[in-house]
Amino acid sequence: MELIVLGSGTSVPHPLRAASAHWLETSSGSVLLDAGAACVHRMAQEKLDWPKLDAIWISHFHLDHVGGLAPFLFGTKHAPQTRGRRKPLMIYGGYGLKKLLRAFDEAGNYKLLDQSFPIEVREVAPRTKFELLPGLAAQTFSTPHTRESLALRLTDEGGTSLVYTSDTGYAEALGAFAEGANLFLMECSFWRDKPIEAHLELADAMRLAKRARPQKVLLAHLYPEWDGADISGEAQKHKPGCEVIAATDGLRLKL
Ligand SMILES: [Zn+2]
Ligand SMILES: [Zn+2]
Repeated sequence: MELIVLGSGTSVPHPLRAASAHWLETSSGSVLLDAGAACVHRMAQEKLDWPKLDAIWISHFHLDHVGGLAPFLFGTKHAPQTRGRRKPLMIYGGYGLKKLLRAFDEAGNYKLLDQSFPIEVREVAPRTKFELLPGLAAQTFSTPHTRESLALRLTDEGGTSLVYTSDTGYAEALGAFAEGANLFLMECSFWRDKPIEAHLELADAMRLAKRARPQKVLLAHLYPEWDGADISGEAQKHKPGCEVIAATDGLRLKL
């Protein structure tokens, strides 16, 4: 697998951090993990093969995670690069995903799901096991963030695994869900004294890392209060027992 960070930021406009979006290249195909508003531009900027994207995972419906979904589908509908495409695009997310796409459509009569290639939208329940793409095993976990918010665990045919929390409050069981992952891609919204329960601060994230014992932790969804901080250094003060990397837009990690 290879992970490319498209957006390491949040809903707060930031000059260096786009809203949440990550591109994952697997032996089964490519997956877009969340679709923050800038993802359409960021995919092109990173020279990724967006016309052939195989699947989209939507963790929850906050606009810093879905703001680019309708624009992406509007793009594939009208761009010359996708005119000859016939292979299907899968879109996965929690309950309400179909309603959200209908609402986008109704706002401008876009017919976003009516394209030259089939689009299949699948709503997934928490604690579900399914194949996200052929040979790419997936599991979900309900996170304490919104009603529909889900963490995702992906395992390829070679056994390499990535766990993506997306936005979440602290839940002990999330550490168990991520146990032994090659990469634990975690939100770490705040450094300390988090203003709301529905996100993680560094101490929370490091407790989860200690429980999960992954090979590597990648911290993303970084609010501007992290600007200028030595995030990895601060993380190591909590003795997480593994390498901790701070996400930056454009970072590429081979797993
Ligand atoms: Zn968010
Ligand atoms: Zn959120």
